[in-house]
Amino acid sequence: MFCQMDKKENLHNVETLSTSTKILKLGHKDHTMRVRLAGVTDLVADEGKYHLKCYRKFVRDNETSGREDECVTPATACFQNVVDELRVRLAQGGVYKLSSVQPLTFLVYEN
Ligand SMILES: [Zn+2]
Repeated sequence: MFCQMDKKENLHNVETLSTSTKILKLGHKDHTMRVRLAGVTDLVADEGKYHLKCYRKFVRDNETSGREDECVTPATACFQNVVDELRVRLAQGGVYKLSSVQPLTFLVYEN
C-alpha cells in the first residue's frame, strides 16, 4: 500500500487493529496516503498489504514530522520503535524470550 510496486520482497498483511489504526492515523500527515486511504477505516478487514521496509520508512517519515509529536522524548520514541518492531515481528509469528527483550528496553531508558 505504500510504494504500490511489485517488489521481490515479501508482502505482509495488516493483521492487528493497532497497526491499522497507526497507519490510518499517520496517513493523515502524508498527502499520497491520505488520498489512497480515503474512506478506509479498517486495514485488517480491507486486507491492507505492505513491505516491511516501506512500512518502516512510512512510520519513520511521518512520526518525526508531526507537530503533535514534539512532546515525545527521544526515550519514549525509541521505546515506541522497539514496541512497534516487536509487534510487527510477533504478528509474523516471531517468538521472543522476555530475557532478550528486557535488556533492550532498559538500554532505551538509560539513554
Ligand atoms: Zn513497498
